[in-house]
Amino acid sequence: MTDNVPVRCPACRREQSFTPPAFPCACGAPVTLPVLRDGSPEELGHRTWENLWVAVDCPACGRQGHWPRPELGCDCGAVVRVPVAAAPPRPARARLPGPAARRPGARPSGRSRSVPRGTRSPPPRSI
Ligand SMILES: [Zn+2]
Ligand SMILES: [Zn+2]
Repeated sequence: MTDNVPVRCPACRREQSFTPPAFPCACGAPVTLPVLRDGSPEELGHRTWENLWVAVDCPACGRQGHWPRPELGCDCGAVVRVPVAAAPPRPARARLPGPAARRPGARPSGRSRSVPRGTRSPPPRSI
């Protein structure tokens, strides 16, 4: 049922046959990552949090899960990131517990440090 998708290696221009990976949704249905056939594969230089995960909706229950982006190891030694049609971000209204909620390696990054809003400190009280 899963169709192979041709992915052209950007390094050597060879076309490889790639099988889109499927992951189990919390509802039990398999979620096949929607690999873009006419996308432009990129050679993976370094991994960042943003390019490591992709949001994909479950076709059965509509739940959005975050799955690792598929990669293809080419014979030339390049690691190619396969383009995936990511689901549009949706308002985080209902947070459903599921395996996708557990993000391995999640850790606070320095990026999340925000400027304190209420910097107004109470005046020193002298008695
Ligand atoms: Zn290659
Ligand atoms: Zn599901």
